[in-house]
Amino acid sequence: METVDERPASAASAVEIRRWGCFVGGDWVDADSNFSVESPCDGSRFADAADSDRQLAARAVDAAHAAAPDWGARPHHERAKLLLRVADQLEARRADVVDALIREGGSWFGKAMFETGYVADLFRAAAAAVYLPEGEVLPSSYGKLSLAVRRPLGVVTVISPWNFPLLLSSRGVAFALAAGNTVILKPSEETPVTGGLLLAELFAASDAPAGVFNVVTCSRDGVAEVGDELVANPKVGGVSFTGSTPVGRRIASKAGELLKPCCVELGGKDALIVLDDADLDRAVEAAAFGAFMHQGQICMAAERILVHESVADEFTQKFVAKTKTLKTGDPSADKGHVIGPIINARQVAKIKAQIEQALAEGATLEVGGDVDGLYLTPTILSGVTSGMNVFRQETFGPVAPITRIASDDEAVALANDCDYGLSSGVISRSESRALAIAHRLETGMCHVNCSPVNDEPHAPFGGVKGSGFGRHGGRWSIDAFSQTRWITLDRGDRRYPF
Ligand code: NAD
Repeated sequence: METVDERPASAASAVEIRRWGCFVGGDWVDADSNFSVESPCDGSRFADAADSDRQLAARAVDAAHAAAPDWGARPHHERAKLLLRVADQLEARRADVVDALIREGGSWFGKAMFETGYVADLFRAAAAAVYLPEGEVLPSSYGKLSLAVRRPLGVVTVISPWNFPLLLSSRGVAFALAAGNTVILKPSEETPVTGGLLLAELFAASDAPAGVFNVVTCSRDGVAEVGDELVANPKVGGVSFTGSTPVGRRIASKAGELLKPCCVELGGKDALIVLDDADLDRAVEAAAFGAFMHQGQICMAAERILVHESVADEFTQKFVAKTKTLKTGDPSADKGHVIGPIINARQVAKIKAQIEQALAEGATLEVGGDVDGLYLTPTILSGVTSGMNVFRQETFGPVAPITRIASDDEAVALANDCDYGLSSGVISRSESRALAIAHRLETGMCHVNCSPVNDEPHAPFGGVKGSGFGRHGGRWSIDAFSQTRWITLDRGDRRYPF
C-alpha cells in the first residue's frame, strides 16, 4: 500500500478532492482499488474512496491496538482536550462540511446546518463525559476497600449508515474515545467522506495521537469481508453498529458468538399518535417534520400516523396544506429545497412499491406520489390499514401513512403491533393522558407533544425489539464503551475457614 499524498490543505479543497485514502495509524493509506461516490443531487461524481480489503482493515486494527494502552492511560483532561479541539475544528470548517453533506448525501441546507452544529455539541458533551465518575466504592463485609471501576474495552469498531453520516459516525467515535478506547470507523459506502474521511481530517488537524482514530472505507462489494475483520479480529474489544436491522442482526450474531460487547442501533417504524384533544396545528408541525425531514430517511421518522377518528379529517386537511408548501428539488442548487433526493434508485423503487401496493389495497393518495429520478414529492396516504406493507415495513422515504383510531387503547395496541421499537410521539392537551400512553408504548424513546424525531447528545438514545439494543448518549454511551471490574484491597480483616 502506498501513502496517498493528496491530503487537502484546507477544507475548501476537502470537498473537491477526487481520491481519498484510508486514515490508518495517523497516515493516509491507499488501497489497491477505489470506488466512486455519486451525488444523489444530480448524479455527478462527488469523490473516489479507497476500496479496502481485509488486510487493510487488519492493519487499521493493529494501529488502533498499538495506540490503545497509551490512550487509555492518558489523564482525563488530555482526552477531553482532544475532543474539544475536534469540535473547534469542525466549527472552523463548518461551511465546507455543510456543502459536502448536501452534495454527498442529498441533505437539505437546514439539515446539514443542524447536523454540523449538533456534532460540535456532541464532541463537547463527550469531552464532558470524560469527567464522569470512574466507578463506585462498595461496602464490604470483610472491611475491604471494594471498588467497581470502569475500564475501556480497548479497540472499538464503529460502523455507521449514510443518512446522518457525520452525526451517526461521531456519536460512536466521540464517546468511545472519551471512555479511553481507540477507534476504527467504517462509514457507509454511500457517504465515505462526510461519514468518516472529513472526520479523519478534523482529528489530524487536532493533533490526535497516531492510531487513536482510524477510518477504513470500502465498497458494498467488499463490506462483508471488511466488516467481518472489523468485528472478528481478536484485537477488537467491542462494536458499535448503526444501520439496518438485517445487517445489525448479522453483526450482533457475530459479536455474540465471539462474546464481544456490541451496541446495535437499527431500523424503526415509529408511530405519531394524535389524540382527540390534540392541538392540531402542533400535531401537523410534528407530523410534517417527523415524516418529511431529510425525505423521511431517519430511523425515528414518523412512519405511522395514528389519528383519532373525530379529528382525522381536519388533521388531514391541515397536514396536506402544510405539505404542499414543502419544495422538492436539488438542495445543492437552492437552499429552499427542503425535500431533496432519495439516496439511491434501489430505495426509490422500494418506496414506490409500498405506495402502489397501499393504493391498490384501498388507501387514498391525499398529496404527493410524484417521482422524478431520485426525487419523490412528500406523500400523504390516508385510509392505511395494518395489513399494508407501508404500515409494517420500514419505508425510509417521504411517506406519511394515516390510520384512524377510536380510542387510546387502540392507539397503543396498533403502535405496539410492530417488529420495531425505536421512538414514538403522542400529541394531546392532557399531559397525564399522553404520559400514560408514553409509558405503555414498546419503544426505547417517546416524546409527548413532539415528533418521534428527537436526539440530544447526553440523553439515552436507542430502541427495543427489532430496533436493537444498547444506548448512545452521555453516561449511557460511556457504559456501552466500558467494562466494569471489581477490585478489592484487603486490610487484614478477612478470616479464612482453614
Ligand atoms: P445498512 O445496514 O445497509 O448499512 C449500515 C452500515 O453497515 C454501512 O456502513 C454498511 O456499509 C455496513 N454494512 C453493510 N453490510 C455489512 C456487513 N455484512 N458487515 C459489516 N458492515 C456492513 O444501513 P443503511 O442503508 O446505511 O442505513 C439505513 C438504515 O439504518 C435504516 O434501517 C435506518 O433505520 C437505520 N438507522 C438506524 C439508526 C438508529 O440510531 N437506530 C440511525 C440511522 C439509521
